Amino acid sequence: MSTEKTYKIKGMHCASCASIIERTVKKIDGVEDISVNNGTENAKISFDPSKTSPESFNKKLEPLGYSMVIPMTAKEMGMSENEHAEHLGLNQSKKEKLEEVASMRQGVLSAVPIAIISFFIMTWDILAQYNLVSEMNYTVAEFLHHLLPLMATYMLFVIGKPYLLGFYRFLRYGKANMDTLIGIGTVSAYLYSFAITAFEDVLKPFINVEHTYYDVTIIVITFIALGKYLESRSKIKTGDAIEKLLNLQAKTALIIRDGKEIEVPVSEVTHGDSIIVKPGAKIPVDGVIIEGSSYIDESMVTGEPMPAGKKIGDSVVAGTINTSGSFTFKATKVGSETLLAQIIKMVEEAQGSKAPIQALADKISSIFVPIVLVIAFLTLGTWLVFGANTLGFSQALSFGLVSFVGILVIACPCALGLATPTAIIVGVGKGAREGILIKDAATLEKLHKVDTVIVDKTGTITIGKPTLVDIQNFSTFKNDELISILASLEKKSEHPIAHAIVNYAQEKNILLQDVSNFEGLQGKGLKGSINSLEYFVGNTKLIQDIGLEFDSSKLEEYTAQGKTPVILATKKEVLGFVMVADEIKEQSKQAVSDLHKLGIKVIMLTGDDEKASKHIASLVHIDDVVAHVLPQDKLAKIKELQSQGHIVAMAGDGVNDAPALAQADVGIAMGTGTDVAIESAGITLLGGDISKLVKAIKLSKITMRGIKQNLFWAFIYNIIGIPLAAGVFYPVFGWLLNPVFAGLAMAFSSVSVVSNSLRIKSMKL
Ligand code: ADP
Ligand code: MG
Repeated sequence: MSTEKTYKIKGMHCASCASIIERTVKKIDGVEDISVNNGTENAKISFDPSKTSPESFNKKLEPLGYSMVIPMTAKEMGMSENEHAEHLGLNQSKKEKLEEVASMRQGVLSAVPIAIISFFIMTWDILAQYNLVSEMNYTVAEFLHHLLPLMATYMLFVIGKPYLLGFYRFLRYGKANMDTLIGIGTVSAYLYSFAITAFEDVLKPFINVEHTYYDVTIIVITFIALGKYLESRSKIKTGDAIEKLLNLQAKTALIIRDGKEIEVPVSEVTHGDSIIVKPGAKIPVDGVIIEGSSYIDESMVTGEPMPAGKKIGDSVVAGTINTSGSFTFKATKVGSETLLAQIIKMVEEAQGSKAPIQALADKISSIFVPIVLVIAFLTLGTWLVFGANTLGFSQALSFGLVSFVGILVIACPCALGLATPTAIIVGVGKGAREGILIKDAATLEKLHKVDTVIVDKTGTITIGKPTLVDIQNFSTFKNDELISILASLEKKSEHPIAHAIVNYAQEKNILLQDVSNFEGLQGKGLKGSINSLEYFVGNTKLIQDIGLEFDSSKLEEYTAQGKTPVILATKKEVLGFVMVADEIKEQSKQAVSDLHKLGIKVIMLTGDDEKASKHIASLVHIDDVVAHVLPQDKLAKIKELQSQGHIVAMAGDGVNDAPALAQADVGIAMGTGTDVAIESAGITLLGGDISKLVKAIKLSKITMRGIKQNLFWAFIYNIIGIPLAAGVFYPVFGWLLNPVFAGLAMAFSSVSVVSNSLRIKSMKL
């Protein structure tokens, strides 16, 4: 039996770390699969616990500088499951992150003055060479040039310790990550310079002992440390959506026990508890109002800006805020069952998932480091072999060294590893704030390519709460008797039409009768017997199926207005029909026109009457209507569109549309209240708001654009930087990249990628 677990990983820096961890753990016997996310620093591992354990993963990882955080169980820590969850929660790991960032900041603060001094010395020396400034006073110059090795030693061994370790691991285990590149580069510059300082006289005949590269070590490490500090600081911000969601959770609840009001921790609330909510308080768990009424601000959970009026029988959701009224509700979902808990779980999982577009970046960064090492050594060799003829050995060695260090520093694939996950984390988080729940990164990626949106009529374009508006009676029954038969049959159905008829009967206080042999007829209606007479209820298709004569032109007067006919018949005759009408949602028209602006075709698929559907469709300017479809035909229609090369998104209520939602490239569930079929669809729009579909598509487009920009910026530095650093342009233009600038570029690329991802957060949808 294999299990799948997610662990936090410590010591990760970049995508090459992710691939080293993946490859190392995969080799362990009993491990089936592992996926490491560089953005969330999580590893998802499926393994066979009878063959291996997390402890043995750590045994392999620790020598490489990583460790998996193996959480102690609630029992071991003497906590309740809830306290334990909170303890392990993101708030905790954020605290650790903040501490890490604070210590990075300390490092940077001590490095910057040193870098400034050595930059000053470096600049003065260069300017003096061109006689732009006078030579430094001899004593001062001697002092400063002896200060340099001391400062470089501090930088390399204190601030640059991670890179030294990277170098060491490379020598010891043959594993190279980006720290290794920086390590080899800065150590080489340092050792070369140290050799000159130590053996000046011995080396004088062979190389130019005037020039050392301590400044390179100092400044490169400073830039990289600064870049990493800024990057980590912003990376914390990319994940704050989850933190905000966690903070929505109320800590305590006011419950009634044994007739008394008592305040208990929210973890102690159980199903069926009566909970009192005072004005301004947070709703602690999900439930149904049993007394009182109020307006509730649900904006944090569903993204709906207006407080919603709630009365007895309405559902309330944990994490939302009561405004002015006061009410009591019965807890129906607690702990991990609440909508908020599910949202948090879903967002966390989606943020940790990998987008297909990342596969390329992962692949490149996993082979990048060894390739760069080879290029760096080849370049050094080329300089020594070919440069020595024209420039002399001493100059060729110094240029070769500059190129070598420059390549190693600029080629770090750090930005490459950050490009996709940071944008996904921000995009998914932003979606959650708007009531758009995205299942995984792949869905978010696919959504931007959608060119056809299929919508359900009932509940998607219309409100989904039809009412009975007309009765046509051809029988000898009185109207109330006719309704009694209809409502008794519909009482057994879940369709919105059924609710309309049953509600009508209840309002009129019409008595219902016993029904036997009830059967739902998919896409057509239902049948059942009352007093051993069999009745049929449904649409014109059903009447045709029975083989009854019915002049459907009688219906047209109504269907032309968008009303849906419900016909009551026996095997022999049509007894009459009622008309139900559903209101079009306020946002539907705008949403369809916004989809058109994005170049997306909107098709309505419905089981409803053709005329009625066409009328509704024309009111909201839907491009195409396919009416009278059975659920399995919805699936076929989607397949047909897909075979024509369309990328199809399907928005439906998620209940009887599940197969169609699954077939669509992107399935979109319209969630209402607490009954969100989160698992069934790629995207869930909370509050059942169709205009959020437009936002979701825009979000996908923005996120994908962000990722592409990030990948561009990550690559461009390497594509231009590596040949420049290698000295390819030297023979023609005399250009050679100073490693100091390589360090700057490298730091800049990571910081620009993370800031670009953060920009997504503030973009308008
Ligand atoms: P849709 O979700 O598009 O309405 P359905 O397959 O659920 O599609 O229903 C298709 C049609 O079948 C409805 O429009 C209605 O005409 C008829 N129908 C389904 N269920 C009932 C019912 N309980 N009572 C009357 N008619 C029904
Ligand atoms: Mg339906």
